[in-house]
Amino acid sequence: MSYKIKGILMDKILQMLQLQQELNDATNGKGWEKGTTKNGKIIDWKRCTYLECAELIESYPWKHWKNIDAQPDYANIKIETVDIWHFIMSQALKEYKMNNLGTIEDLAKNINNIPNFLKFKENKTSTTKNYYEQIEVVEQLIKTLFCKNSTDKLIETFFDVAIQSDLNLSSLYKLYIGKNILNKFRQDHGYKDGSYIKIWNGKEDNVTMQNILESKDITPKELYENLKSAYPKG
Ligand code: MG
Ligand code: MG
Repeated sequence: MSYKIKGILMDKILQMLQLQQELNDATNGKGWEKGTTKNGKIIDWKRCTYLECAELIESYPWKHWKNIDAQPDYANIKIETVDIWHFIMSQALKEYKMNNLGTIEDLAKNINNIPNFLKFKENKTSTTKNYYEQIEVVEQLIKTLFCKNSTDKLIETFFDVAIQSDLNLSSLYKLYIGKNILNKFRQDHGYKDGSYIKIWNGKEDNVTMQNILESKDITPKELYENLKSAYPKG
């Protein structure tokens, strides 16, 4: 990769955008930016995003009538944040392509200039927001989705969500690579026709993926191979 703005950290955003482009090309067919898949299904990244936002909100014990002493599920909050990131990048990739706003490199460069990018990149401290306030930030993201020309604002609000979820650029990157590879693996093993096995030895495939990632430093390719060996072949 010859294009670098701020060393390796800049490359992480660019790499994630490129992997997302590849995943979308493979899953939906080239030209998905026009709004339909190769199977003729309508693509709605905004709907994908707000439903993942709902999954994120469901990781907080917001219900006043149920399990009122429960704690937020912080591990899952991180995973849902990464899910949201897949769809926000897809939305941005689509906008750039369809409105001729520039290349993927231009998009990466513009993300680097978003006001809270540095704060997100270097985030170390836990949020001081209580969980009701955190939910409001997620709701702000949902609102931003439906504003016109909102790509930059959307990414900025996403970084706010990532920061309060205790993620920074490095940890988001690691989890994103993991989930991206798992999504590729799912597509290669029958996810679209429904034959994919999601529960591996009593645990969701996500959990196995995270365990592999935490046990060692591996490349995306090695992760794929590890998933292949762990997959229960029905
Ligand atoms: Mg989901
Ligand atoms: Mg999800």
